[in-house]
Amino acid sequence: MIYYKTPDEIEAIRGACLLVSRTLGMLAQHVRPGVRTEELDRLADDFIRSHGGRPAFRGYKGFPASICTSVNDAVVHGIPGNYALQEGDIVSIDCGVEYQGFYGDSAYTFPVGTVTAEKRRLLTVTHQSLLLGIEQARLGRRIGDISHAIQHYVEKQGFSVVRELVGHGIGRQLHEEPEVPNFGKRGNGLRLLPGLVIAIEPMINAGRREVYTDADDWTVRTRDRQPSAHFEHTVAVGEQGPEVLTSFEFITQDQLLPV
Ligand code: MG
Ligand code: MG
Repeated sequence: MIYYKTPDEIEAIRGACLLVSRTLGMLAQHVRPGVRTEELDRLADDFIRSHGGRPAFRGYKGFPASICTSVNDAVVHGIPGNYALQEGDIVSIDCGVEYQGFYGDSAYTFPVGTVTAEKRRLLTVTHQSLLLGIEQARLGRRIGDISHAIQHYVEKQGFSVVRELVGHGIGRQLHEEPEVPNFGKRGNGLRLLPGLVIAIEPMINAGRREVYTDADDWTVRTRDRQPSAHFEHTVAVGEQGPEVLTSFEFITQDQLLPV
């Protein structure tokens, strides 16, 4: 069942989203060569709890950490551990928070130091595809319009869209209906109405789209070992258009992508 939110509920979701966004902003200051992903996880966990939130991923279906850290060929769901980030890596950090009974969800893929031109282009294209998807999240459009906008742009740039994982409704739960695929047909799927809140999250591969889950039972990786990027915002369908509830504004200038 799809659960449409009241304006008050959207304000409450905005509170959770603000904490998610500030957590990603805090983490941005620590992403550099030599930092272990488990250190980022500890920083995130402390920050979220000290601001009255609960890390939504910890314990979710048994996930053992408070953020997902997915490096290079890892697409999503990477488990923080003793891996130390290296110059030239890209690392997706995905963060979900429960705050006063409501959920927010956002992800950003950071370059670690200087990365290759191709990785930088992957980040820029994936971020841009998120913005193009958000642009479709308005009254009268359908889920398929979001999906199509992302897929059409990404494939025109020569990259590929992961099919196995999709965006989702969010609010009272971390994952609600509907599914929000990053591929699909214009005019297909659920008609978008005010009060719908969704997480839009393109997962884009530099090479082929095929993925597999590695031996830790969580980390999703590209089959061809090429890098993958992931950006995510929580978005409300408003009367006046899309309302982006999470924000990358707390991510410091040198980590921001050129757009
Ligand atoms: Mg997420
Ligand atoms: Mg999500």
